[in-house]
Amino acid sequence: RREKALAAGSGKGMTKDGHPVQLLANIGTAADARKAAAQDVEGVGLFRSEFLFLDRDTAPTVDEQTATYTEVLKAFGDRKVVVRTLDAGADKPLAFADLGHEENPALGRRGIRLGAVRTDLLDDQLQALANAYQATNANLWVMAPMIATRQEAAWFAELVRAKGLPKVGVMIEVPAAALRSFDVLSEVDFASLGTNDLGQYTMAADRMQGELSELLNPWQPALLDIIAYACDGGAKTGHPVGVCGEAGGDPVLALVLAGLGVNSLSMAPSKVRAVRTALALHDYAQCQQMAAAARASVGPKEAREVVLSMADPVLADL
Ligand code: PEP
Ligand code: MG
Repeated sequence: RREKALAAGSGKGMTKDGHPVQLLANIGTAADARKAAAQDVEGVGLFRSEFLFLDRDTAPTVDEQTATYTEVLKAFGDRKVVVRTLDAGADKPLAFADLGHEENPALGRRGIRLGAVRTDLLDDQLQALANAYQATNANLWVMAPMIATRQEAAWFAELVRAKGLPKVGVMIEVPAAALRSFDVLSEVDFASLGTNDLGQYTMAADRMQGELSELLNPWQPALLDIIAYACDGGAKTGHPVGVCGEAGGDPVLALVLAGLGVNSLSMAPSKVRAVRTALALHDYAQCQQMAAAARASVGPKEAREVVLSMADPVLADL
C-alpha cells in the first residue's frame, strides 16, 4: 500500500479536495539547483546563499554572485525561486565581516543584523540578484533572515524594491515577528517560517545541543501555537506564508502545517514525494482538525500520536 500510495502522486501539492500547498525545494549551491530542478518540485522555497560567502578571505564580487544567481534562476525557468540573503554570524562566522567577540552569538548580530551593519555586503548581494533577474526575467522572490520587527521589514523591503526586484519577503524565525506577523507582513509580499530557529528561540533551547532535542521537537504545541499566529497575519494581509525549516519535510507534520494555514512547504527534494502523498490522502478540513488536535496536546509525542490516529494508516509508514 505504501509503494502504491507513493507512486500515485506527481505534480502540484494539494489536499484530496484540491486545497493547494506548494511543494518546494531547499537548496544551498548551484549544483543543488541543477539536481532539484530535475525533480518534481514547484520551485525553490529556500536558497541558502551562504555557500558563496563562507570559507574565503574576501567577499564575493557582484559579478561572481550575478553568475551564480543567474545559473540558479535559469535552472528553474518560470518556477518560483526564493533566495535568502546572507545569513551569516553566530555559527557561521565570516573572515571578512568579523564584528568581534559576542557572548551569545545566537542572540547577536547574525542574519539581517549583520546586513544592517555591513550594508555594503547586502547592497552588493541585492545588486547581483537584480542583475540576475534582469538577465532571466525569472520568478524571483528575495527574503531576509532573522527579521524581528516591522521596522526591519520595512527597511529591507525598501532596499529590495529600490533594486527593481519583484517580490520581497521575510523569514519568520524570531518569535516577535511571528507574534506581530500582521505588522511585519503589511510591509512585504510574503513570509517563510524558519522552524529550526523559530523552535530554538521559542523554547530558548540551542538548536546545536542534541541533549535538548525534546524541547526542539517541532511538534511542541507552543511552536504550533506560534506558527498559527504567524499564519493569522498571512490570512489577514492576504500574503502567503510558507515553511522552510526541517518541519516541512515530515509528511505527518506537513498535514498539521497545512491545517494551520501554511501555503507552501520547502524541504530537501528527497522528501517531497512523501509529503505530496500525505496531502493527497486528506481533505483540508481534516488537516484543520489535526492542527487543532495537535495544539490541544500536552506535548510533542502526544501531538504526533493524536494526529497519526486521525490520519490514513499508510502515514505511519511514509
Ligand atoms: C530555519 O531556521 O528554520 C531555517 C530554514 O534557516 P537555517 O536552518 O538556515 O537557519
Ligand atoms: Mg534560520
